Amino acid sequence: MLKRALAVLKDTYGYSAFRGHQGDAIACALNGIDCVVLMPTGGGKSLCYQIPPLVTGGCALVVSPLIALMQDQVAALERLGVAAACLNSSMSSAEQAAVTRRLREGELRLLYVAPERVLQPRTVEALSTASISLIAIDEAHCVSQWGHDFRQDYLELGALAEHFPGVPRMALTATADERTRTDIAARLALDAPHWFVGGFDRPNIRYTVRARGNARTQLESFLAQFRGQAGIVYCMTRRKVEETAEALCAAGFNALPYHAGLDARTRADNQTRFLREDGLIMVATIAFGMGIDKPDVRFVAHLDLPKSVESYYQETGRAGRDGEAAEAWMVYGLQDVVRLRQMVDESPSSEEHKRVERHKLDALLGWCEATTCRRLPLLEYFGESHSEPCGNCDNCLEPPATFDATEDAQKLLSCVYRTGQRFGAAHVIDVLRGVDNDKMRQYQHSALSTFGIGSAHSVLHWRSVLRQLMVRGVLVADVERFGALRLEADARALLRGETRLFLREDIAVAKMPKRKSTAVASDVPLAREDEALWDALRACRKRLADADGVPPYVVFHDRTLKEMATRRPSTLAAMLNITGVGQAKLERYGAEFLALLNGEL
Ligand code: ADP
Ligand code: ZN
Repeated sequence: MLKRALAVLKDTYGYSAFRGHQGDAIACALNGIDCVVLMPTGGGKSLCYQIPPLVTGGCALVVSPLIALMQDQVAALERLGVAAACLNSSMSSAEQAAVTRRLREGELRLLYVAPERVLQPRTVEALSTASISLIAIDEAHCVSQWGHDFRQDYLELGALAEHFPGVPRMALTATADERTRTDIAARLALDAPHWFVGGFDRPNIRYTVRARGNARTQLESFLAQFRGQAGIVYCMTRRKVEETAEALCAAGFNALPYHAGLDARTRADNQTRFLREDGLIMVATIAFGMGIDKPDVRFVAHLDLPKSVESYYQETGRAGRDGEAAEAWMVYGLQDVVRLRQMVDESPSSEEHKRVERHKLDALLGWCEATTCRRLPLLEYFGESHSEPCGNCDNCLEPPATFDATEDAQKLLSCVYRTGQRFGAAHVIDVLRGVDNDKMRQYQHSALSTFGIGSAHSVLHWRSVLRQLMVRGVLVADVERFGALRLEADARALLRGETRLFLREDIAVAKMPKRKSTAVASDVPLAREDEALWDALRACRKRLADADGVPPYVVFHDRTLKEMATRRPSTLAAMLNITGVGQAKLERYGAEFLALLNGEL
């Protein structure tokens, strides 16, 4: 049967091999076994439940929490020649009746239903008239109160086992933590499920973390390499989203804002534009992203630190789902350390919970300051151990310099001590650098022995040292005393010269890693002479997509167009060998693209 699954993969999707555990999950479904599939965003979860009904001719019921996402998937499946539909509250009763009829007549291979809907008596009744051969529960982590996307409706889904005895179920998620995993199997009442965990590496995503200088300038020079390409810029607050989007537009970028404070209409419009138009930059809070299934997001930039390594991984995972080279880029600085620690301290949650949060934050801060491969610890966090440095992160590509910071640290720590541990970062650095201002005179700090002992270094240098000392827990900013710096136990050994300290040299503001032709196997480099053709192919795709009312990537992915531009198939048969071209798309779009390739358009 797996042979037939492979034939479907080739004929329908135009792909030649399964990725990661796809084949195993499909085999389970075909053999009537429950399973849990844990794959990163972009790993290829949807094929796991889409292929079985195409092999058996049955119907897969897909429980999915986001209406927009369902509609996208149905549109994409229709382009592949697969009979698919959804049932949700945004549909008229006539539309719903039509779907029910197609279901009864055995016409549908896939039916997407929202969780609040699936157990309603009339839905169950409609489903009982069909031959449901598989139940897939997407975003299965929503069943866990432990996670951040908990949905009450998901708790009821265990009842599906009683309503559809003997029908195999498949739970899918990208969330990894242990507690959520246990909850998924228990709450969904899965029967001795097989577990498929893995493939968390996203080799096409390049990770880069920069010390924050002038964040806006840094961002603009980062974005300059992505003209005409789509990406997301995450900011912590609504205000910062608006300001950043405005500034980017003023600088000639095509940017839109998105946050929970915008009215529903504007939000929906901006989201649709992001999906349909080529090359938009979405500046957003984390309200944007979940369920955004756009495969050609080329970068995710963070202007503020996320909450944890796990959030960072989820958010950056929205880049490069199509497997083409993509960038995860972040600026981070002293402010983040102070503010995030403060947020944890001031949150109303229990001490126990705060301890967990602090731990998560420290793990992320430590990761930011790392001087070795960034990918290895990320994957370790998700339980995967790899031994070789990745060659596709900032630390691998441009190993950061470290310097002996023992003396600098001593100067800074004694300055904090001499000023009575009563002042924040800005003033302490002023004292070090010997700045003459009102505050200095008011407290007579120019008389201190530490006044001016750090004048040889810039403010940025001192902020970098201070930040790294804080991340290491040598210094803390006391929230209750307006961020006054205080020495911790570890400071003593440093001050006495008993330990030496090596810190990372921050990379100069706005300096970018050179974009060498990347080592990523999946990336198809485009030769200069192919670029004009590539543009023409993109224009053709946009035209066909607009005529069909779907986003361009539903017609063909970038990868497919790039292959067309480099391999230049001249017949329909040759076109079928291009990745992403299956039978249905060949019939629908083949002739048009072929005409273009043969110079007839
Ligand atoms: P997920 O739901 O896990 O985030 P998707 O199912 O949306 O991921 O798949 C991500 C992308 O990878 C899609 O564009 C899909 O077409 C592509 N893809 C999935 N499986 C394969 C495969 N075996 N070969 C090539 N591309 C694949
Ligand atoms: Zn690396």
